[in-house]
Amino acid sequence: MSGAVLPGATVGVLGSGQLGRMLTLAARRMGYRVHVFSPDSDSPAGRLANREWSADYEDLERVREFGRSVDVVTLEFENIPSETVETLSEFVHVRPGLAALRTAQNRLREKEFLRGGGFPVAEFRSVPDAASLESAVEEVGVPAVLKTAGFGYDGKGQSRLSEARDAPAAWDSLGGEAVLESWVDFEVELSVVAARGVDGSFAHYGVVQNSHENHILDLTVAPGDVSEEIEVEAVEITHGIFEELEIVGTACVEFFLTTKGTLLVNEIAPRPHNSGHWTIEGAVTSQFEQQLRAVCGLPLGSTERTTGAAAMVNLLGDLWTGGEPDWRAALEIPQAKLHLYGKAEPRPGRKMGHITALASTSEEAAKLARAARTALNVNS
Ligand code: AMP
Repeated sequence: MSGAVLPGATVGVLGSGQLGRMLTLAARRMGYRVHVFSPDSDSPAGRLANREWSADYEDLERVREFGRSVDVVTLEFENIPSETVETLSEFVHVRPGLAALRTAQNRLREKEFLRGGGFPVAEFRSVPDAASLESAVEEVGVPAVLKTAGFGYDGKGQSRLSEARDAPAAWDSLGGEAVLESWVDFEVELSVVAARGVDGSFAHYGVVQNSHENHILDLTVAPGDVSEEIEVEAVEITHGIFEELEIVGTACVEFFLTTKGTLLVNEIAPRPHNSGHWTIEGAVTSQFEQQLRAVCGLPLGSTERTTGAAAMVNLLGDLWTGGEPDWRAALEIPQAKLHLYGKAEPRPGRKMGHITALASTSEEAAKLARAARTALNVNS
């Protein structure tokens, strides 16, 4: 199991959504074979992979077969059962490994890891049951946000408490073990996407700025408009987290920049991230090629931007409400690069694709990306 996994070898990917699809594109370009594994079939990544394994992550017989068919395993989805990763590890390296996955899979473990490691996080308390909520609210104060400890992303499984009396309703709306977190008054949301190699080498894409709509990422602008000090601190924190979790691969740390000018870590995603999609056109090496290089034990590529700035807007299923979006109109903007994930059903809130625009400044790039998306809307 030692040595680099070279072109011609087979990369296994757990999960088969858009992140796996973009990884598959990068890997196949570089001469790798790709096998994806998820419960889905005819998936965004499966359509482009050499082989799509459709089975439950708990189906350890299939997991073993999959493990025997590949040379290394990475993932595009962090909620993989530990047993699946342990089973695969009997055959191949799984990168990133269990330490990163177990931490990122559970908000409470994640926050305890961050606090324990001296990384800045918002005030929080564990809320294992309804009875402990009242004291948690007293200690954390209001406003606050109650989040499920387990599986949750894109704002799913959270409820805001404006006042203490909102607590029972918030608990009822979630159910199960939770974390109460103080509400953060933030100036902007930032993230750092970076990669760490098998040899501990580290490369980052700098600080980018993210705007959300209904808790879902809407716009990423690179570079973010932050001071040199904040840039350096965010990258240092990210590097520290990668080291502590021994991450091998591409991952992302999301931050709040508070109105007081301090950084707080919000979340760790132990895989490529939506706020790094701009790197496909906007950086010498995309976050997906970087993931491939890292997990295959190859040298990391340059993370330098190809132009002054880049912006990415997500295309959600809502855009299909009035019929098929007007692709031609969006592509009238020559700087706009269209990415569609091949998902059949455009449900509201579902990430169907994205558009990236490159320009010399962040403002111009954001303007172009937004204009391209507006042009898609057949009703506008
Ligand atoms: P999460 O799923 O925890 O990343 O939350 C999704 C989004 O909800 C974040 O990107 C923020 O926009 C918002 N959010 C989450 N937690 C907080 C908080 N403690 N204070 C303010 N906004 C928050």
